[in-house]
Amino acid sequence: MSERIINVLSNANYESRKTTKKLIQKLKENNFTPVTKVHPNAELTITVGGDGAFIKAVNRSHFSETPIVGINTGHLGFFQEVDPNNVDQFIADYLDKNYHIEPTYLIGAEIFTKNRSFFLHAVNEIVLKAQNSKVIHMNIFINHTHLEKFSGDGMMVSTPSGSTGYNLSAGGSIVHPSIKALAMTPLAPISNQAYRSMTSTIVLPGEHIITLIPEKRYANSNLLLVDGQEFTYNQLKKINLRIADKHVNRLRIAEQNYWDIIKSKFL
Ligand code: NAP
Ligand code: MN
Repeated sequence: MSERIINVLSNANYESRKTTKKLIQKLKENNFTPVTKVHPNAELTITVGGDGAFIKAVNRSHFSETPIVGINTGHLGFFQEVDPNNVDQFIADYLDKNYHIEPTYLIGAEIFTKNRSFFLHAVNEIVLKAQNSKVIHMNIFINHTHLEKFSGDGMMVSTPSGSTGYNLSAGGSIVHPSIKALAMTPLAPISNQAYRSMTSTIVLPGEHIITLIPEKRYANSNLLLVDGQEFTYNQLKKINLRIADKHVNRLRIAEQNYWDIIKSKFL
């Protein structure tokens, strides 16, 4: 029989390291081969930590389709569904195939600078802001139709599963993860006699393309937040965003209901 390799990606917290040690031992007892980096032939990735650990693990595995599940040693752990005390039960469920795979939508962004273009992906959200806490002015198009000239802290585009993160804090709506949609939420939009920005979230079909074009003076002073990580670009011309063709496959244990999770994590 071939090896059953499982990636175990942990953050560095004491609690996570302790859980990881226990997990690795138990996986070995069940004839799995746990590895602590991303192995191309792994059948599963287990991430140990909070939501940040989940996002990082998705990044480290290059948004691969290998199923991924999280053990929550973080604070909120919206993505991390296994309790560290239930590792035995989790392994038993996994062996019994008592789970389902839930494809999770990602954002795909195409970034255009003066000389090149490239793609990025995000699990939660992408935000275009100005450096140094300045107001940014940008033109926003949906499917090539000009929607508005936006002025404010920034514009956030969130996935359904990211909608409960930064998007929710910024007043955006919770979008059920089965809906192939993007939520576009303004950050501190300015709406006055000088600048008139849309102040509400827009939820749009995942196939629609959002185009953000920063005004020229922000071409060299922009800040892009990709799942909370900062990037800056020289000569940023344009960003196109939509639901990506790729998705992440979350391994979910049978009975967990989205609305129970919402209630237990947010209310
Ligand atoms: P972090 O500072 O630990 O994240 C802030 C909080 O957001 C944490 O409690 C985190 O859960 C939670 N979170 C992350 N993704 C979520 C989701 N999809 N639904 C509900 N809550 C979620 O940083 P991080 O762990 O590296 O996470 C990066 C994310 O933080 C970003 O993608 C963004 O969504 C979020 N964020 C939020 C704000 C805000 O609300 N004002 C500002 C910046 C970033 P854990 O405790 O389990 O880590
Ligand atoms: Mn975190």
